[in-house]
Formats: sequence, structure tokens, C-alpha cells
Amino acid sequence: MPHYKRILLKLSGESLAGDEGYGIDACVVDRYADEIKKALARGAEIALVIGGGNIFRGLSSAAANMDRVQADHMGMLATVINSLAFQDALERKGVFTRLMSAIKMEQVAEPFIRRRAIRHLEKGRVVIFGAGTGNPYFTTDTAAALRAVEIEADVIVKATRVDGVYDSDPEKNPAATMFSTISYLDVLKKNLRVMDLTAITLCRENRLPLVVMNMNAEGNLMRLLEGEGVGTLVDQGGE
Ligand code: UDP
Repeated sequence: MPHYKRILLKLSGESLAGDEGYGIDACVVDRYADEIKKALARGAEIALVIGGGNIFRGLSSAAANMDRVQADHMGMLATVINSLAFQDALERKGVFTRLMSAIKMEQVAEPFIRRRAIRHLEKGRVVIFGAGTGNPYFTTDTAAALRAVEIEADVIVKATRVDGVYDSDPEKNPAATMFSTISYLDVLKKNLRVMDLTAITLCRENRLPLVVMNMNAEGNLMRLLEGEGVGTLVDQGGE
């Protein structure tokens, strides 16, 4: 048995952009798909939430003069584009997948139906949740936390560019130190911006463990499944 059986993996849109900083880098998607395939072979069930920031964000400067709801709809559709790219990469590797969208688009994706999502996972399919929560004013971090709670995931894994949660931004402060574990409450109190407040609060209220780790370091997902301490574990701690 893997250390965590059912995993919800959250990938930011930006992580798919690779060095380009925009759009979808096929090599990155391919590499992540490989890691997911290995995790499935190890016996894990994998659900995915992919952001849209590499294409469009509701709060970006490109959307500055736009109606917020309209812009958020664009952002949610961007997550579907990323999800389709990811689905293609996984299927080409022989991994069975289902894309479920929070916004109805019958020709492209199944609607999100919780019981059906769980059934897909039990059958060994990777389930990709597209279109965020389907609501404006939310983020895909919150969508990830919500879906993870709904499908009763054992852990939510947030893939980042850095190795875990630090006391300050490691990309700006070379003296920043990483936590191996931290409580939800400390993340909130210290305003550590691991995920947005709604997402962290959902995790906390439902005692859903969150692991923040670097997906670019090859083998990290497998190390996590083997029970090795990878990245930062956020849980209730002493609460
Ligand atoms: N979005 C939304 N509701 C949701 C999820 C996402 O309106 O439930 C929109 C929002 O505009 C957001 C964009 O989709 O900026 C892309 O998602 P996000 O910024 O979370 O992507 P990431 O930062 O992970 O790439």
C-alpha cells in the first residue's frame, strides 16, 4: 500500500508554462505525466486540478478593465485548456483518464458528479477536474481543496517551484528556512501564502493533510508515496 492512497494533485498553470512563462510546454506536461503514471503503478489513485495562470487570470493586468465575473469565466476556461493538454499527455502514455468540468460542456468533458468521480478513481482512472469550482471569485487552489474533501482524498499535494513552505520567500531571501511540518493555524497566522485563505481554511476544517512540494524534482511524488518526508506537511499539528 502506498503511504497515501487517494491523492489530489494541484498543479498551477504557471508550472505547465516551463521556462517560456506562458502557454503550455509539452516537455513539462510530459514529465509530470510520467510521474503520475509511476504513482498509479504504485497503487495510488490520482485526481488532478490544474490552474489557468499560464493563460489567463481573472485578477491579471490583462483583465484590469474587464468585468470581474467575465474575466473569471475566461480563467476557468483556461483551466479546461490545460486539462485537455494534460489529458492528452496521459492518454498517450496509456493512462486512462476522465476530464470532469465544473462548467457544463458536454462535447468536451463530463459534468462533475462526485460519485462518478470516485468510481473513476476506484477503477484506476486519473480524474482531471477542470473549470475550477465553476464560480467566479474563487481560485483553483480552493477548487483543489473542495474536490479533495468531496472525493475523500487522503492528501492534497500542491506542486510548487520551491521545495516546500518557507518562513520567507526563498526566491528572494537566500536565508529563508523551510518547515518540514507546520500547522494550518500557523500558515494562517504567519500569512505564509501557501494557498489562499479559503483553500487553507477548507483543509483545516476538514483536517485534510496538505503537502507542498517541488514537482520538478524527479521522483518526489514516488518518495511521498513511499512515506519519505518530502516538502512540507501542513496539518492540524498541536491544534
Ligand atoms: N477561477 C475562477 N473560479 C475558480 C477557479 C478559477 O474564477 O473556481 C478563475 C480565476 O480567474 C483564476 C483563473 O481561473 O484567476 C485561473 O485559476 P488560478 O489563478 O487559480 O490558476 P493558477 O494560479 O493555479 O495557475
